[in-house]
Order: sequence, then structure tokens, then C-alpha cells
Amino acid sequence: MSTSKYIFVTGGVTSSLGKGIIAASLAKLLQARGFKVTIQKFDPYINIDPGTLNPYEHGECYVTADGAETDLDLGHYERFLNIETSQANNITTGRIYFNVITKERQGEYLGKTVQVVPHITDEIKRNMLLLGESGNYDFVITEIGGSVGDIESLPFIEAVRQVRWDLGPNNAIVIHLTLIPYLKAAKELKTKPTQHSVKELLAEGIQPDILVCRTELPLPIELRKKLALFCNVHLNSVIESIDADTIYDVPILMRKEKLDERVLAKLKVHTKVERDREDWKKFLTKLKSPTDEVNIGLVGKYVSLPDAYKSIVEAFVHAGAENDAKVNIKWISAEDVNHNSCESLFKGLHGVLVAPGFGERGMEGKIQGIRYVRENKIPFFGICLGMQCAVVEFARHVVGLDANSTEFDAKTKYPVIDMMEAQKKITDKGGTMRLGAYDCRIKKGSKAHLAYGETLIQERHRHRYELNNKYLDRLEAAGLKAVGTNPESGLVEIVELKDHPWFVGVQYHPELRSTVLNPHPLFVKFIGAALTYKKSIS
Ligand code: GLN
Repeated sequence: MSTSKYIFVTGGVTSSLGKGIIAASLAKLLQARGFKVTIQKFDPYINIDPGTLNPYEHGECYVTADGAETDLDLGHYERFLNIETSQANNITTGRIYFNVITKERQGEYLGKTVQVVPHITDEIKRNMLLLGESGNYDFVITEIGGSVGDIESLPFIEAVRQVRWDLGPNNAIVIHLTLIPYLKAAKELKTKPTQHSVKELLAEGIQPDILVCRTELPLPIELRKKLALFCNVHLNSVIESIDADTIYDVPILMRKEKLDERVLAKLKVHTKVERDREDWKKFLTKLKSPTDEVNIGLVGKYVSLPDAYKSIVEAFVHAGAENDAKVNIKWISAEDVNHNSCESLFKGLHGVLVAPGFGERGMEGKIQGIRYVRENKIPFFGICLGMQCAVVEFARHVVGLDANSTEFDAKTKYPVIDMMEAQKKITDKGGTMRLGAYDCRIKKGSKAHLAYGETLIQERHRHRYELNNKYLDRLEAAGLKAVGTNPESGLVEIVELKDHPWFVGVQYHPELRSTVLNPHPLFVKFIGAALTYKKSIS
């Protein structure tokens, strides 16, 4: 039997209200009181995981240390809480059905008609309680993806209703996040959509305990009273969530609105001593009072949807604050970069990051961009595909090989980036890349060593292709050094350029490990290098 208390977060009226940020902020406040908290996300789509989704549709795919491809909200959980999440923290309809159908084939339901209720809902409930049953957490916060009233979220809402009934009101509560739109013409905040959304939730058997209301303007007391009366929620459980300058303000705003106190009171938990959130506040102060700024070009394929690079953007926020500098990101579509456009596109930039990605589109642009920053000694940071492009660029223009990655030209004469042998046999696309945390041994004296201050690190991966070690000697002899390798496989993890102020390419995804309290060292040093470069040219 679980000793954890369960907090469910549902959403209504519209999507994109920031349930993940509210859940992470509440978790942060509970954590600050000394409780052990985790957050899990249940997504109603049929994909087993978001690994096969286009980033344009769903934003970045966040990879956990145990190699799960998950929803980007897990990134927020890790960045806020400074804890690691895992496969168990992200469940989709697809996974639930997969589990149930697998059990059906194994004969676990012999004789029975397998149905949404109870079999699918039971499997959802089993997964909802799993982390709590580990005994590791005082609170498990469960975010339900989508909006109340969606056809596909029905089984999840039904499972929440049942869990609440099973555990009783002192052990499980529901927070409903909703929108209070402001009608400019009427100069009024409107509560009706929220009332309807709560009615919808009631029709599905759930009375929310707490309403968190997203709003552009402060919620006047009369409006709070109205919401309380029509939604059967105590007045002090109508919580205002006003638009914030930065997502990192939200825990502080939620504390002011006493969201954590209301949760603890409803769950009959006696408050542990409230610890100081000094470190968080210190970060916010640094974030809001930068003494300098740098312009960083982010070259990628999905730049029209910044959510596709969520963790990179947040890692820049953390690293900027650490350097007391504001990081202005200039989004550059890789397809716009060519030999002629580089100079004007990269004008005024103090550093360039070439992003991860898949597929050929934009690849030549990335290579041209890298050539430009290499030759002009502008700080460069290449992540995953960005690192692979840097290797191809160097092989072509310095070593003099007509090189490519076999991802883009299967028949290239010089496959400096190639698929691992083990990968070549794999035909399934879902969950089959090199995923999750792997060791990396770093050479002393390298820029990476300077940043990490260690020689053995672990970073997360998500890719099929690797630097082809057959070409390593030639690349190194010409000045591109492999300064980080995996001790077991010998695969190259980090490359650096000699005779360049800061040119670092990594095969892994450092952005996934950057948190508010532990900004990623490579991002910190990259911004530092950009600041130095800025000074050098002014
Ligand atoms: N497409 C490349 C690979 O599969 C890089 C992947 C990435 O950037 N995450 O190896």
C-alpha cells in the first residue's frame, strides 16, 4: 500500500496553459519544505512515446537517463526539481494499450472480454500508483495531458476518479488548471469558460479541489468569489496564475498565492519547516539583472517552433544567469545558410550553436555555417547532429576529403559519420536509437575538462550515427581532436578544434542535464567564451 499522497493536475478551456510549469512549481514548493516529490505525465496519444513524433507537432523529445524518450514537460520537472526522471514518469495511451494487449496475448485475461473499463483504466491506475509504491516519495504529482472533455483523455480522467475514490480525499486531490480570458472590448475577465470546464469535469465524476486560473490580469476578489460559488471550490482554493516574465517566477508566484499551503491542508499533511528558497531567488536575481549580453545564433531545422529546442533554450537561460549575461537567441533556419548568406546572417553574433536534428534538409547550411565560424574564430557549440556536421565540414575543407555522413549520402566515398554496426540491423524506428546515459572519458587539459572539472562524466544520447573511428587519425592529425570517448566502445563523444578560441562538438545532449541549480558546465563555458569574443571585437 502506498504511503504517498497523490496530486492530479488536469487542464481545461484550452491546451498550452502550462500544466507542466504549474506542476513543477508546486513540486518545487513542496520540495522546499523538505518533502520528497516526483512528477509524472500521462499523455492521451496513441504513440508509445513521443520519440516518433515530429518536433513541429509536439516540441522537443526529452530523453531521460534511463533512455526513455519522453514529453518535454519532464525537462521542466528535472530543471525545477534537480532530480532525475525515468521511463515510469511518462506514460501514453499507446503504452497502456500495448501493455494490456500484450497481457491479453499472454492469456492473462483468459475467458474475459477485454474492455476500456476496467482493463484499460486498471492499467492506467496501476501506472499512476507505481512511483508512489516505490516508497521513495511523499508526493506524486500526476499531470494529465490534453484538456478535459477530449475523447482520448476520458479513460485517464476515469482512472483519476477511481484512484481518488480508492484512496479517499485525504490522500488524493485534483487541481484543475483553467483559463480566465480577458475580453478587451468588454474590458472584462470572463469566468464562464472555467465554469463550463468544471461542469465537464463534474460530468466525468470529478470535483476539483483547487482551481488554478491562468490570467493576464490580477483576479479581483469578486471574481474569485464567483468562481468559488459556481465551481464548488473554497475561496482560498481559487489560485491566480498571472502571466510571468519567466517560467522560473512561477514557484514564487504560486507561493504568494499559497498553492502549496492549500494542497497540504487538503491532504491533511502537517507542514514541515519551510526552508529558504535562497538559491532559487539568487538565480532569479541574477537572471533579472544581467550586467552584459551576448547574441547567440541557433542554427536548426525546426526554428519556427522554439519548443523543438526547449532544453537548449533553457540551458542558455541557466548559463546566462551564471555568467550575469542575457543570452539573446537569434533563430537561424539551416536552409537559409549558404556561402553567401553567412556573413550577413551571422553578423553581430558572439557564438553559434548548431542544433541536433534528423534528415538531410538543412544539412549543407549547417556545414557552411560551421565553416564560417571555424574560419572566423567565432565560438561554436555543436550538439549531436551539430557535432556530426562539424566533423563532415572539417573532413571536407581541412582534411580535403569529399566526405559526408551516411545519413545523408549512403554511398559517400568518405563516410566520416556512419551508423554503428549494431544499428544497421535494426528496422524498427521507435525506441531503437542509442538512448540514455553513457560514460565519457575526458582528456585532461581539454576545454571540456576545463568545463566539467572531471575526467569521467555521464551524458544522455539520442542518435544512430557516430564518428567513424576509421578516419580519426586523419582528423586528429589535421587538428580536430577527440577529447572525449566512451571507455567501453571507444566511440567519440567530444571533439574540439586546436587553434580556435572555443570550438566544441558533442555527440550527446548536454542540454538535457542543465537545471536551475546546476547549469550545464559546457553551456556556461560557451557563454563565457562568447562574452570573451564580444570583448575582443569591440
Ligand atoms: N541524425 C543524427 C543521428 O541519428 C543526429 C541525431 C541528433 O542530433 N539527435 O545520429
